[in-house]
Amino acid sequence: MHKKKRKEPRYYLIRAEVIWGIALFVVVLLIMIFGGNTWIGNRRDKAAKQEDIPKMIEVTFDGMESELQDVGQCYLCGNSNKSLMGYYRKFDTIGLISLNDWYVLDFPLKNYDGEGNELVGEDTNNMTSGNTGEIMYSCDGTVSRGMAEIEVTLPEDYKLNADILTQNLCQVCLDKVTASLKYWKKENEKKEAIPLCLVDFDTLEIYSLQGTYPAYFVRDYWIEMELDGNDMEVEAFYLPER
Ligand SMILES: [Zn+2]
Repeated sequence: MHKKKRKEPRYYLIRAEVIWGIALFVVVLLIMIFGGNTWIGNRRDKAAKQEDIPKMIEVTFDGMESELQDVGQCYLCGNSNKSLMGYYRKFDTIGLISLNDWYVLDFPLKNYDGEGNELVGEDTNNMTSGNTGEIMYSCDGTVSRGMAEIEVTLPEDYKLNADILTQNLCQVCLDKVTASLKYWKKENEKKEAIPLCLVDFDTLEIYSLQGTYPAYFVRDYWIEMELDGNDMEVEAFYLPER
């Protein structure tokens, strides 16, 4: 009877250096294949992302020079009868200025008499609206809640009229207003400065409405803004510290 010959396993004798050499070669090969691919992939991703992200440019209005001869007639800090600031400066609240026609609107957060004295306890719902020829606006406030809102509709192709600022503001006030107007835009983007700003009637400080900072505190007032096309909505909340 033919006995089936069992196959014996075969063994090779190889020098250890050769085995390690092969192992190293395989590892290097794998790193080259996978590592290289990822590296190239990353570079491709980066290049694509750089094409997607447009260059951002900051537009500023620094260096504008005041042409106002009589500083006492400054629209912000002076007593020009063409500016409503003389009246509102008695208020403790804040306001919004339409810069192209220097129209000042106050947030109806508190009630005042004609002399600027606060009328406490008189709970009214204040609502006003109008058209200045430059902007359409509506102001709405609930004094008991310490909340108010101003809505402004800007002209179709609004553009800042710098002349009204240089001719009617002293250098100090002009610098404050122009500092509030800087904004960011994409390279080649058609974007103008929004000809609006906020004013603190108490300190005469000016705050930006360029949408870069959509919410912030002005003293005890919390401000939130939203721009939708040509419509700007600014909300103010009186939130004193307790
Ligand atoms: Zn001034």
